[in-house]
Formats: sequence, structure tokens, C-alpha cells
Amino acid sequence: MDSEPPVEMYFFPFVGGGHQIPMIDTARVFAAHGAKSTILSTTLSNALRFCNSIHRDQTHNRLISIHVLDLPNDAVPPDTSMSAAPFTDTSVFKQPLRHFLTQHPPDCIVIDVFHRWASDVIDSLGIRRIVFNGNGFFSRCVMQNVGKFAPQEKVGSDSEPFVVPGLPDRVELTKSQLPVFARNKSGPDKFGQLEDKSFGVVVNSFYELESKYVDYFKKDLGKKAWGIGPVSLCNRDEADKVERGQAASVDEEKLKWCLDWLDSQEPDSVVYISFGSLARLSYKQLIEIAHGVVNSTNCFVWVVGKVSENDGQSHEDEENWLLDFEKRMRESERGVVIRGWAPQILMLEHKAVGGFVSHCGWNSTVESVCAGVPMITWPLSAEQFSNEKLITDVLGIGVQVGSKEWASWNMERKEVIGREKVEAAVRKVVGGGDEAVEMRKRARDLAEKAKKAVEEGGSSYAEVDALISELRSLKKN
Ligand code: UDP
Repeated sequence: MDSEPPVEMYFFPFVGGGHQIPMIDTARVFAAHGAKSTILSTTLSNALRFCNSIHRDQTHNRLISIHVLDLPNDAVPPDTSMSAAPFTDTSVFKQPLRHFLTQHPPDCIVIDVFHRWASDVIDSLGIRRIVFNGNGFFSRCVMQNVGKFAPQEKVGSDSEPFVVPGLPDRVELTKSQLPVFARNKSGPDKFGQLEDKSFGVVVNSFYELESKYVDYFKKDLGKKAWGIGPVSLCNRDEADKVERGQAASVDEEKLKWCLDWLDSQEPDSVVYISFGSLARLSYKQLIEIAHGVVNSTNCFVWVVGKVSENDGQSHEDEENWLLDFEKRMRESERGVVIRGWAPQILMLEHKAVGGFVSHCGWNSTVESVCAGVPMITWPLSAEQFSNEKLITDVLGIGVQVGSKEWASWNMERKEVIGREKVEAAVRKVVGGGDEAVEMRKRARDLAEKAKKAVEEGGSSYAEVDALISELRSLKKN
């Protein structure tokens, strides 16, 4: 047993989207490596979402706990709305954070990039600050070079492809696939500045997944970074997997039925469809997905998230159609439609699941890699179009459905992908042809490497230890 006091690390996740889930996992990973981890939460109700897994870790003698910041009663926490996050007036939250950090200063605090407001407080107290932005190395390199070389400004139209200069591979994108804020050279990159003044960044990835881009990011772009993932692999207990994210909204009867039904399916035959925690598709799009997957003849589990209804029309007919579809599919045992939340890693790990129709959120991408499941890529927003290129063009573990339009989750999306494209992409990945066999082999190989990376002797295991050691040596000075 180490007689030195443990390194103390705080983790301040942002609640929205796929930000909080990996940050909680990250805190748990560092605790498993001997750090004393404290997760900061702006509300008790939020802490209740993940406290069970933290309690389980405590029973395994991990030094991990949750601290709920003492915010004024009427304060709306700065992390309840994804769109408002960077713009919320946060002055009211600074005092409780300052108070806590002054009373109990850690050796380092890992903050989400959307808690930009917190950096003034942390920096003024001289506490080491690490930034987490939820992206992988590849997309970070792509976005850096898009910002630096502005190749998008040299094309004639939004649909004309351009090559992103300077990268280890030929990566092509169109202007329509870039985030709106990245299409034209604009003012200073505030998120970038937040990182530049930090102690470094932690990335939920592993060296073997994007080695050329880990090297490029660290050496060519000169960033200090630790690749510590896949952090989702810290969820070993079934209960952790079931509860991860939003336990309260899981329909238990349906989940049980779904898992029993999956047990009866052929290996690698079922398509899992999910667009993450934020995306809102239109009913028009949902109907195309339904027909596409039925026409592919594969069985499926489809997690229908929030539906976009901002066209001002009534959607009673479409909603009834969807309810009827759900009923018919379950009765015929053809597929399961889940409205709301599903325990994704449990689903992906099931041996019957053979393909993942995904929006290419980075967490979903890494979780699919961990499960060795090839993907049907359908990027929508954020850095997902870059992730798609990594999955399909660089790693060769996915097929593109043909999505071209970047739109934020709260913008109206014009593009509707037709049922034929959905069917074709699903058939390519879950159909059993030569291409599918090769893709699955590559995906399985990466899954093995992912598991090795987080075990003793693995690349991410070493990175976690390296960061802890560095913090320990700084503590002594
Ligand atoms: N997730 C889940 N069940 C759902 C939807 C999402 O467990 O029904 C999890 C998923 O496993 C992942 C995260 O939520 O860890 C979504 O993150 P990602 O980066 O893929 O997408 P985002 O939600 O940020 O768009």
C-alpha cells in the first residue's frame, strides 16, 4: 500500500449531451488508479443520476465521492441547457465554486469545456486545470487544421469537397458538413484558448485507435494530452451498465423483453439504431428509417430519441403510425422500438447485435469499437462528420449512409435520407457479404486492442498513471 497521501483530483462535468457520462467514467478510472476523485455537481438531482455506481466503487475501497455545490436556491444551474451553456450569466455560480476550492484545494481539476466560466475562478486560485471536451484525437486534428488553413474558403459551393491540409491521411469534407461556426474564419477560438492556458487535455481514446493522430496532436500541434480511454470499459458490473446515463427513464419491462428476445437471435444479426442523447429527427425521417430497416430484412432495436416538431404542424397521424409500427414489430418479434433511453453499452455488447446505425457521437463511436460492432454512419452535428471519416475511411469499420447536412440539434434539418439508402447501408454492414466480414474482423481486432489499452501494461493505463505521477511530483515541489 502506498504510504504517500493520494493525489486529489476534482471532476466538473457538464450535464448536457454525451459530456457527463464519460466524465463520470473518467473520475472512476482515476479512482481505480489510486487518485482521490471528487465529482462536482451543480444539483442534487443530477448527482442522483450517477450516485449508485459511485457507491459501488466506494464499496470496492475506491477513494471517490460526489460534492454538490451549494448554489443559491433560485439559481438555474449553468449546465441544464446545451444551447445556453456558453452564454449563461454565471457570476452567481462562481462564488460557491470559489468557496469550495478555497476550503479544499485539489492537486488538479478536470473541467468540461462548456464550464468555461469556471476557469477564471480556478486559474485565479492557481489550481491546475485540465480540460475535457468529449472529442477524439482525429476530429481535433481535423478541426484544428480546418481552422488554421481554412480550405473551406477555397471551394465554390457548400457541396464541393475539399481536402483538409496537413493530416496524415487524405481527409475530405464539404462545407455543409462543417459546424456553422467553423465555416468562415471568425474571431478568436474561445474554447481553444481555454485549453491553451490549461495544464493539458484528457481524451477518451486509446493510442492504437488513432495512433497517427495522437502523435500529430501531441507532436505537430504541440498539445499536452493524455489518451485515457475507452473510459466506458470501467463499467464492469451489469448494474453499472444498466444504470449508466439515465437509469430513471429506462422502461424495465421493455428492457427485459428486449434482452430476452436478443438472446434468441442469431449472432451479429440485429441492427442497433440510436442517435445519441440530443439529436431530434423529424417524423418524416423516422418513417424512412422504419421502412429502410424493415426492407433490409434485419431484426432491430431502435432507440427513438426526441422528435423534432418545430415545423409548426400537427403530427398526430405520424405519431399514431409510429405507435402502430412499434406494436406490430414487437408482436411479430421483428424489432423493438424504445422511446427514451436504452442502456447502450449493454445493447452493443450483446452477441446478437451486428451493426450500429449511429450519429457518430464520439462516445457512441468508442463504445461501438469496444464492442467490436461495425457501424452505419449517420452524422448530424458537432464533430460527428469528422468521426465518420475516421470510422469509414481510416479505420474501415463502417459504411456511410450518405448524410451531408450539419445542423445543430435545435436547428431545423432539411435533409431527409431515403429508405433505400438506409436499407443499402444496413445490408452492407449486417448482410454477411465479403465487405461486411472484413469490417467485422477489423472491428473485433480494435475491440481487443481497446480492452488491452485499459489493462495493466496497456497504453491508456500507462497514460492515467503518468498523469497521476506528474501531479504527485508537482505536489512535492
Ligand atoms: N446513451 C445511452 N442510451 C441512450 C442514448 C445514449 O446510454 O439511449 C449514451 C451512450 O452510450 C453515450 C452517450 O449516451 O455514452 C451519448 O454520447 P455521444 O457522444 O455518442 O452522443 P451525444 O449524446 O453527445 O450526441
